[in-house]
Amino acid sequence: MSKRATVIACLLVLLLIAGLALLRQSGANREYSSDQFLMDTLVSIKVYGNDRETLKTAVAVAYAEMHRIAELADGFAQPGTAAYQSSDVCRINALAGKKPVQVDGDTLAMLVLAKKYYQLSEGAFDVTVGPLMDLWGFGGKNPHLPAPDQIKAALKSVGCQDLVLNEQDRTVLLRKEGMKLDLGAVAKGYATEKALQALKKRGIEKALIDAGGNIRVLGQNVHNSAWRIGVKDPRKSNEIVAVLALEDTSAVTSADYYRGFEAGGKRYHHILDPRTGYPAAHNMTVTAVTQDAGQADILSTVFFVLAPEKALQLAEKLAGVELLLVTADGLIRHSTSLRGRLEVQPGAAYRYDQSR
Ligand code: AMP
Ligand code: MG
Repeated sequence: MSKRATVIACLLVLLLIAGLALLRQSGANREYSSDQFLMDTLVSIKVYGNDRETLKTAVAVAYAEMHRIAELADGFAQPGTAAYQSSDVCRINALAGKKPVQVDGDTLAMLVLAKKYYQLSEGAFDVTVGPLMDLWGFGGKNPHLPAPDQIKAALKSVGCQDLVLNEQDRTVLLRKEGMKLDLGAVAKGYATEKALQALKKRGIEKALIDAGGNIRVLGQNVHNSAWRIGVKDPRKSNEIVAVLALEDTSAVTSADYYRGFEAGGKRYHHILDPRTGYPAAHNMTVTAVTQDAGQADILSTVFFVLAPEKALQLAEKLAGVELLLVTADGLIRHSTSLRGRLEVQPGAAYRYDQSR
């Protein structure tokens, strides 16, 4: 072969190798995405890889996990229906003050976590808020402002100290009649984490699950860098106040704009302070960042109810937990360790406190 022909042959081989590498990479970056309405919210799962069938099956398994947890935790199933029979929460509530109920391992795991954060938050987080949620009507179509004596009466049926968990027998008892569990602050995140672990088990290495503001990412994005997630401006839904850089972690937001109503010129929302019976008023929006989406979901609610300084102190105390919040008077604050993974865009409406 002449020298010229050898050079051309080498170039062709190189081109072929580069082409193949490009093809492989674009295959590995292929996205499969699917949305479903679940747990009262739009859930979106995006996965990346090179084989569409593998991606599709993994997402189907992940959704099956989410549906399973949703059924266990569904507090609104009607008696006599199949949904009621498969809801641990409904069965526990129906037997409040009567007898312990045998539950699924995942229900017990959610309740063990919930009780742990009840203690850590000194009662600010309490999954026995059911009677208060019902009184305010947040679960239904007609939320309204209750009378103070009604709130006082409902508070008597709230308190995690009367939630009895028997891990050995896998049973749960609400000690007093009239008590009612509400896993609204727990189940979505727990289900999101279950879904993500299901994807991982099926060999997925890059994924993003968005369950109505509960974000969980697996690995890095397709460009092999951190996923960039915007934190919504609590008063302007199409604007953001910050961007978070996330890798293999979750970020869950609890905020006052999701569900609520106005009465007498004042807005009331769905995250209640179980110590007063009224909506927690310290913050507009709170984002908890930690690897496990179940823990992040609980923590976002914990931090939302607590006063900002207390919330920041608790976040600093917990390993692997970070926090960003906008206080009721418009101050953006965050835990020390979030610096460097966060771009704050306070705009004209908010002030940014960088003291940590
Ligand atoms: P999240 O949006 O995750 O903060 O959860 C809010 C939901 O959790 C509400 O819709 C209620 O179902 C429930 N919830 C409200 N207040 C509390 C509280 N203080 N502790 C635990 N759960 C609560
Ligand atoms: Mg929550």
